[in-house]
Amino acid sequence: MLRKVLIANRGEIACRIIRTCHRLGVATVAVYSDADRDALHVSLAGEAVHVGPSPAAESYLRGDAIIDAALRAGADAIHPGYGFLSENPDFAWAVTSAGLRFIGPSSDAIRAMGLKDAAKALMEKAGVPVVPGYHGAEQDPDFLLDEAERIGFPVLIKARAGGGGKGMRRVENAEAFREALASAQREASAAFGDASCLIEKYIAHPRHIEIQVFGDDHGNVVHLFERDCSLQRRHQKVIEEAPAPGMPEDMRRAMGEAAVKAAMAISYSGAGTIEFIADASEGLKPDRFWFMEMNTRLQVEHPVTEAITGVDLVEWQLRVASGEPLPRLQDELFISGWAFEARLYAEDAERGFLPATGQLVHLDLPEELARVDSGVRAGDRISPFYDPMIAKIITRGPDRQTALSLLSSALSEVRATGVTTNATFLRRLTMQTDFVEGKPDTGLIDRHLSELTFHRAPSREAMALAALELSGTLQPKTANDPWGGLSGFRLWSQASDFVELDDRGHHVPVSFASTGEGAYAATVDGKRVDFSLSRSGDGACLLEVEGSKRRVHLVSGQRDVTIFGDGENWHFGLLDPLAGEDEAADGGDRIVAPMPGLVKLLRAVPGAAVAKGETLAIMEAMKMELTLAAPRDGTIAEVLVAQGEQVVEGAMLLTLEPEDGEPEYGEPEDG
Ligand code: ADP
Ligand code: ADP
Ligand code: MG
Repeated sequence: MLRKVLIANRGEIACRIIRTCHRLGVATVAVYSDADRDALHVSLAGEAVHVGPSPAAESYLRGDAIIDAALRAGADAIHPGYGFLSENPDFAWAVTSAGLRFIGPSSDAIRAMGLKDAAKALMEKAGVPVVPGYHGAEQDPDFLLDEAERIGFPVLIKARAGGGGKGMRRVENAEAFREALASAQREASAAFGDASCLIEKYIAHPRHIEIQVFGDDHGNVVHLFERDCSLQRRHQKVIEEAPAPGMPEDMRRAMGEAAVKAAMAISYSGAGTIEFIADASEGLKPDRFWFMEMNTRLQVEHPVTEAITGVDLVEWQLRVASGEPLPRLQDELFISGWAFEARLYAEDAERGFLPATGQLVHLDLPEELARVDSGVRAGDRISPFYDPMIAKIITRGPDRQTALSLLSSALSEVRATGVTTNATFLRRLTMQTDFVEGKPDTGLIDRHLSELTFHRAPSREAMALAALELSGTLQPKTANDPWGGLSGFRLWSQASDFVELDDRGHHVPVSFASTGEGAYAATVDGKRVDFSLSRSGDGACLLEVEGSKRRVHLVSGQRDVTIFGDGENWHFGLLDPLAGEDEAADGGDRIVAPMPGLVKLLRAVPGAAVAKGETLAIMEAMKMELTLAAPRDGTIAEVLVAQGEQVVEGAMLLTLEPEDGEPEYGEPEDG
């Protein structure tokens, strides 16, 4: 067995790898950037080495610094996790050349699968079914259009160096082809430094089904069955499950065999995933699945496979890397039960899934109901530098329905404040009819987007409860309430019978009076509501309205409260009576950053005329690219940021000259 492993990653996956190492008595070394000085993975590891500033390019992507750290710490191997350097063949090569083990496949295997076009050619040769399309070297637009017509619309244009859903365009017809190709090439060249694209048939009613494979250095390759990752948004996975619903046994066998053949073709060692796309328009059929790509690393969603096979895939990785044969062979592997994984992110589903950053002030994760793989704790910051994942929530049950109900319950027990999360969106998804019936497909989320993301208005009781809490009426609190000890110093601590709530910028007047032990009558925005409540220690409240009781949770800040109930949550502030209301009066004249991130492109010069809808800037955060367009015709007044600058949410990027006839409120500098 290995003695000491350096984990070249951060977040949940670093923590997850460290745990298995420790269980097996393997010492661990973490690496960290400036932003991660106090991160969870650093505190879990036996030792930790600082490798650079916060941007990944200057820390987690610095192969040389990481190898150096491993050598100095006396590690004998490096585990790359996923993302970052995990699929970089030069890094794998450099690790081995330095006399260390790379916990993953050979650099040759990584290189063979690194470009989608070469990988497909290789798989075709090995007899693995490949998505019909063109994956040659010719990039002339006329030629590619001819190919697209030969393949038949709709087609999918993909960057050959692509990943994370970037550089992909679905094209419906020949007229739209050239423009889509040009924009895919632009995106590919910016993201991967390689503009080359391939063209694929767009598979009807697509389901993403992938096979976990594992090889060792003794020539063995097994598969650990399938995962269904069809619930996607912008080609990125949202909820995954294993096994795949509706999977016929003959198709499972065919896919497993194809995946093993694919891995054998490159003498694969370690954990890998063969991603297939299946046409499910007439149910799953053994002749309707095709190779898409291979990920030569541990996958984000590997825990669902662990849950149905009882295998610790990281343990297998460590054993194989130390030269041991696979712990189990194919006829010793079985599926038992059903599992789901939901990816909990810091993002605002109601606002187009904008990435959210900030301090996670409060964080309850459903550890009694689920396996929770997380890399953060309450008090940590979600920074704009990395993937905004908070946790993976994994549930298992004897059957699909049980595992899915558990996931639903677990998600309704997620309580985070300080940073917006996608928990409500995920919870609604677990109750979506097609998904519940076992019919996921990659377009499901888009088709149901509004019902999955709309803002459910808070009930009057919820607002009344918020008002009671913010007025201090619900004191005294129990000893283990974090704010309990501070109650004497709280603003507005006297019981008051009138509060003005701030509900996402709307002012809601609430008056209330006690009508008995724990009973209240309130008037919310002019309408009356009677209710009673009892509060237990941990912020939980039993709220009774017209004879029916509901459990809700209150999480309070100094001047705000979040109410969690029914898998939804509402945040209320206390209106500051002194705050002016004259902000935002000239809204159309300023372009502000709608999310924290990098100003990737800036097309604005002071004095330039712009037309409504014209692109002024492109912002990028880890998971998303956003175009900021001119809100009206006008002239650029000021540009307050530079291309390449990292900005916070709400930062002013540029301003337009006021429109004719409008009074001038700006600085009186350039009269
Ligand atoms: P990435 O490297 O970005 O993961 P993939 O090739 O794995 O790129 O594709 C990502 C997703 O795009 C898939 O999971 C699937 O939902 C969708 N997709 C890819 N190829 C096709 C296709 N030919 N037809 C329909 N959907 C596809
Ligand atoms: P999978 O195919 O395993 O489901 P995804 O493609 O969703 O995984 O996620 C892998 C991608 O997520 C990587 O290519 C990378 O862009 C990003 N990523 C992975 N790990 C991290 C991390 N620790 N921090 C930031 N981004 C990451
Ligand atoms: Mg993929």
